[in-house]
Amino acid sequence: MSELLLKVEGLKKYYPITGGPFGKKKGEVRAVDDISFSLKKGETLGIVGESGCGKSTTARLVMRLVEASDGQILFEDKEITKLSKAELRKTRRNIQMVFQDPYASLNPRHSIEKILEEPLIVHGIGSKAERKKRVQEMLEIVGLSSYHAKRYPHQFSGGQRQRIGIARALMTKPKLIIADEPVSALDVSIQAQILNLLQDIQKQFQLTYLFIAHDLGVVRHISDRVGVMYLGRLIELAKSDELYEHPMHPYTKTLLSAVPIPDPDYKRETITISGELPSPSNPPSGCAFHTRCPACIDRCKTVRPEYRSIDGHYVACHLVN
Ligand code: SF4
Repeated sequence: MSELLLKVEGLKKYYPITGGPFGKKKGEVRAVDDISFSLKKGETLGIVGESGCGKSTTARLVMRLVEASDGQILFEDKEITKLSKAELRKTRRNIQMVFQDPYASLNPRHSIEKILEEPLIVHGIGSKAERKKRVQEMLEIVGLSSYHAKRYPHQFSGGQRQRIGIARALMTKPKLIIADEPVSALDVSIQAQILNLLQDIQKQFQLTYLFIAHDLGVVRHISDRVGVMYLGRLIELAKSDELYEHPMHPYTKTLLSAVPIPDPDYKRETITISGELPSPSNPPSGCAFHTRCPACIDRCKTVRPEYRSIDGHYVACHLVN
């Protein structure tokens, strides 16, 4: 597990804010503001943060569903941001996405067979008979049955629909799966089943995952490393156990204090976070977290902390040495 599959460098996505009679640019929303990370083959990187922190935009940038304002995205050493339409289409066969709301992403008028067959048709893969066979196989792999192929999305439960979403993502035999909050809309009991399925198929097909979530509890067991985002930036990234056992950034500590521990004798201090997430169109000066940080010192209000590695544990905070 050493070869790099994905390398993201200095990635930015700024949306202009326009207004007035001539649509003049009045400012910009810094949805993703200079983030860098990499993913080795077979690895799972979890990206966590509140809504609006830029994690889903990051997922869409890697898929090139939205165009980056700046930065590099290397997938198997190919620069995704510079690919022609034809090259991008070829590459997309290897990068697939699982969405938060499987119902919204499955065409209600199409049978499951048609939905699953579609990525193969788009990429010109297989004959009609081969496609049909792959649909049947894939349904079995995700824990459904071949007779489900003739049914329609509304005939399934939320968990089953997410299994269909996963089957669809697997149809083209991708190398990287970007899972954007794949269990957030599901009941807790179903969440565990879907996470187990994702882990099983990862082993079976040597998949690499970029796993987006708003809850640190969800990504812990599936991720090799976890990155935490705040207002468009990565503020901490480390190996999963290291991050959960020795969080360094005050924001990560706050998020972790909200994760329930399945041990009634273990008491963890609950740290409450005050205030709303500031707007990415008007981020606070200095450390973007300073308006909500319980440990804020004067320097935090004016000087942005450098995002740096301490023995492979990345963090951006003035108080961490
Ligand atoms: Fe808090 Fe200052 Fe560290 Fe930012 S740099 S997280 S405000 S202590």
